[in-house]
Amino acid sequence: MRRKIVAGNWKMNLDFQQADELIANIVKELNQHHRKDVDVVICPPFPYLMIADYEAETNGYFLGAQNVSIFNNGAYTGEISASMLSAMCVDYCIVGHSERRKLFFESNKDVAEKVNRLLENDVKPIVCVGEVLEERENGQHFSVIKKQVSEGLFHLTEGQMQQIVIAYEPVWAIGTGRTASTFQAQEIHSFIRGLVLEKYGAETANEIRILYGGSCTAKNAKDLFAMPDVDGGLIGGASLKANDFVTIAQSF
Ligand code: PEP
Repeated sequence: MRRKIVAGNWKMNLDFQQADELIANIVKELNQHHRKDVDVVICPPFPYLMIADYEAETNGYFLGAQNVSIFNNGAYTGEISASMLSAMCVDYCIVGHSERRKLFFESNKDVAEKVNRLLENDVKPIVCVGEVLEERENGQHFSVIKKQVSEGLFHLTEGQMQQIVIAYEPVWAIGTGRTASTFQAQEIHSFIRGLVLEKYGAETANEIRILYGGSCTAKNAKDLFAMPDVDGGLIGGASLKANDFVTIAQSF
């Protein structure tokens, strides 16, 4: 049985004090309500990993980063390596978020490299895929997602693939308030699971966790998470409010 998972992507938000307060509030509220069968991952900006690490890890929650370098180490000013994340006790790392694909020109090949670096350092990748509005309107969403999944992940062995979390994030739903319908989410999640089944077989397809992301809120999470192939959520805006995030983490 796949474990449920909810990850909060804080993006480049909050000052130090706000970050400190948010993590403390999330942990406090989670401790009051948290179901032990849900993995909760908090992905703050890099400079706040230390504070989040202490609060999250000592309370049984997971720490995530939002990006990683394709390089191991060396003269790459401003980059952060997978081994550095691992040394900070980072458990998960988001890869290929649509903002990185669009604004920082991250390709499927970059995604594949980042996934490799993370797995080499025992950090679990949360790999984002999703179509832009125009692709959906043109009926290209299945082919776009197939390309992202296969080029980003299908070089992995079966054992490596079982470490991966995939996040389906339709770009038109991210930060827009326009959530995918439960039908749209389930349709794509089951399509992705089918791709994994075809390539890796039933065990891996049943193991792999597929999250939904894109304007997922305390109001709509329950319906989305009730879909059979939706194993949880990658949450942006709503992860910045302790109450909302904790409600989402309990929406199973
Ligand atoms: C995201 O950026 O990963 C995301 C899902 O954002 P939001 O929840 O704000 O749409």
